[in-house]
Amino acid sequence: MKMIQDFNFKGVKAIVRVDFNVPLDKETLEVTDDTRIRGALPTINKIVGDGGSLILMSHLGRPKGRMEKYSLKPVLPVLEKHLGKKVLFADDCLGESAVSMSAALKPGEILLLENVRFYPEEEGKPVLPDTATDEEKKAAKAELKEKQKEMAKKLATYADVYVNDAFGTAHRAHGSTAVIADYFPVDKRMFGFLINSELAAMDKVMNNAQRPFTAIMGGAKVSDKIMLIENLLNRVDNLIIGGGMTYTFIKARGGNIGKSLCEDDKLDLALKIIEKAKEKGVSLLLPVDSLNADKFDNDADTSVSDVDAVPEGWLGLDIAEKSIKEFSDVIMKSKTILWNGPMGVFEMEKFSKGTTAIAKAIAEATSKGAFSLIGGGDSVAAINKNKLADKVSYVSTGGGAMLEYMEGKKLPGIEAVRGE
Ligand code: AMP
Repeated sequence: MKMIQDFNFKGVKAIVRVDFNVPLDKETLEVTDDTRIRGALPTINKIVGDGGSLILMSHLGRPKGRMEKYSLKPVLPVLEKHLGKKVLFADDCLGESAVSMSAALKPGEILLLENVRFYPEEEGKPVLPDTATDEEKKAAKAELKEKQKEMAKKLATYADVYVNDAFGTAHRAHGSTAVIADYFPVDKRMFGFLINSELAAMDKVMNNAQRPFTAIMGGAKVSDKIMLIENLLNRVDNLIIGGGMTYTFIKARGGNIGKSLCEDDKLDLALKIIEKAKEKGVSLLLPVDSLNADKFDNDADTSVSDVDAVPEGWLGLDIAEKSIKEFSDVIMKSKTILWNGPMGVFEMEKFSKGTTAIAKAIAEATSKGAFSLIGGGDSVAAINKNKLADKVSYVSTGGGAMLEYMEGKKLPGIEAVRGE
């Protein structure tokens, strides 16, 4: 594998997998958040700056075949604005236009291919009727996997080198994210700057953390985060738990949680986590108080109680003052901070205070020298909403990919480029 910063792209044609899976306005189809486009700029600028040419490929949404509302065309003007130069567009990624436009590409030129997911072989997941038998499903999958190889092989013929910079899809073994790497020798494939910085940030937290290391886990369910929690118990000094998953732990400890979110089949698991934290010497912090609502609504009546005394019929939707203070104190003393998942139903103004307070505490700890990594769509949204993105050390662009990497799983998009 090559390092992009050491590679001279002069006269080289690169095919670059980026993550341009941006949100679009439903009516106008204009890009409403260009964070992901901006994330790819350092890699694009490096290749063009060296005197190379590049072919960009990405998915957008989850189209079923060719669907205009998932076209990458709306990305074009935004990309051109950021780069200050024209970008060519091929209205297909495998058809004649893509082949001829890639072949004609001159040094310094950029070509964007249409959505790779217009072809089902990109994902390799066959769309079958519910009535399909297991045999039929297996056969369809095998057939599509063959087509996926053909697709990847064809895309590889467009260029001399392959660059993967799509961290957001690195946990997918798709045609353009992983399989294509097999068609380039090891010295002709590399990561872009975005993937490199994501890997560096995660490595710093998981393998080189300065202590105390505090992880803050929130969000709806324990079941979604269990693998990460288990992996973190081997690494952190403090594990703060907030959000909806709190109440499964509290019920497991014998508390009253009213109608709060609870996974009754995870009560034993919650107790095991508490036990394991003790064994490992990890300080596990659960909220001590709860902001409760009489209904799941921003107009609900609210009351504060101890976290294990939520009134009958009420639901805990945020952490309250005492928990905010306890959590903030721990965060402020930390040197490494990982945050994944909100502390409450932050989408509703009334229940966003806990999440905002934690975001601010992380920003303040960062200003005092801590390294902070924020990952997962909702925590990133909370950081952005509070305009704190430049006050934390690193905001990950890949929720699912980050989670899987930190769980200790191998990411196909990373392995394929690294592999011998
Ligand atoms: P996740 O995707 O697992 O990180 O979960 C994020 C979601 O958890 C957000 O939509 C929050 O509204 C929700 N959430 C956070 N705290 C609670 C809570 N106390 N009760 C119900 N949902 C919650």
